[in-house]
Amino acid sequence: MTERIYQSDSYCREAAARITGRECADGRWRVRCERTIFCPEGGGQPADQGTINGLPLLSLEAEGDDIVHVLGRDPGEGEARMRLDFERRYDHMQQHTAQHLLSQVLVRDFGIATLSFAIGPEHSSIEIDRPAFGAEETKALESECARMIFASLAVRVFETDDLSNLHLRKAPKVEGRIRVVEIDGLDQSACGGTHLRSSAEIGLLKIVRCERVRANVRLYYAAGLRALRDYQLKHEVAQHMQRLVTQPLAAIPQQVENLLKDKDELRRALKKAQRREMEREVAAAAVPGGPGLVVREFCGLEPADLRFFVTALTKSGKHALAYQRPQPPLKAIPPRLDAAPAEGGYIVIGRGRGDIDLRRISARLFALLGGKGGGSTNLIEGRGGDFSKIAEAVALLRENLAESERGTI
Ligand SMILES: [Zn+2]
Repeated sequence: MTERIYQSDSYCREAAARITGRECADGRWRVRCERTIFCPEGGGQPADQGTINGLPLLSLEAEGDDIVHVLGRDPGEGEARMRLDFERRYDHMQQHTAQHLLSQVLVRDFGIATLSFAIGPEHSSIEIDRPAFGAEETKALESECARMIFASLAVRVFETDDLSNLHLRKAPKVEGRIRVVEIDGLDQSACGGTHLRSSAEIGLLKIVRCERVRANVRLYYAAGLRALRDYQLKHEVAQHMQRLVTQPLAAIPQQVENLLKDKDELRRALKKAQRREMEREVAAAAVPGGPGLVVREFCGLEPADLRFFVTALTKSGKHALAYQRPQPPLKAIPPRLDAAPAEGGYIVIGRGRGDIDLRRISARLFALLGGKGGGSTNLIEGRGGDFSKIAEAVALLRENLAESERGTI
């Protein structure tokens, strides 16, 4: 049986222990010690990380009453010098203690039970027995949790097999002697994980997202340093937005909505104007005696618009090439907000007369534009990623059209 130091002292960062067993299988060393500071995964809390005799811990396995430390190399016999990644552990302690507090406030003030709990790399979450949880309820929950954090309630751990005097939030999963984690005057839970000494060390608890799962709600929250990092990110984004729209913080959402509406209206107006210009251009180019190949660049249109332009010209016996370059991506707001992907460029080519099969030059042409396309004998189209060689593409088309007509276009 491995003595679990982390259960009596979750702040213990280093310890030495006698190695009681070492086995090697598939290049991995499974090491048992008489005691350990490393807490394996369980109850929603991920496993600890750290080193034994300088070797990084690959994983931790609970085997009956033993904890097996898995290493990539032989730690040697005798003593295991254990060193815990305490930053990671402390984060788990903050998330985990916050969960006890959150779940108890949910039961006490809202009559809602917690169904499951998980600490993820980004956010911690609980699933609650409710189909919906509103914005006002969320604020009330956060305020009450803050009050319990500021009250600096002591967190105590004890073992007992007498449940008669306890007020456990949930019936224990194990029989017999249980380990109870108590937040003074607030909560008692049967739990084997690692916790803080005081609710004050949670620092801050913020619900960051509410998501419907099946008939329940999953509440994502950030506690402790994670909540600070979340605030820092949001502050940075808010400051950036303020610089862009020069409005007070609270006016930003309305301002952004207005800008997006304006953008949509302008886009629609631009499209209308371009369609009208396109029709005029088609009418002008379609007259006999004009250029044999019409080449035209557009901007902000759909492939269907380019196709309309090209088909209208080919019907009057002209060859046509219409394209639009890739739209530059929106500027990214730092940090971590990814830039919107660039909208790809597009090209449509139509043959108005003659018998050349356009598919014959399709592969070469799209290779020049860093894209892919295809079509029929008299119309090809597709996406292009780079239009810096558009002049070469036009020349290639012109040359082939001329060859098929045995004259110049
Ligand atoms: Zn716990």
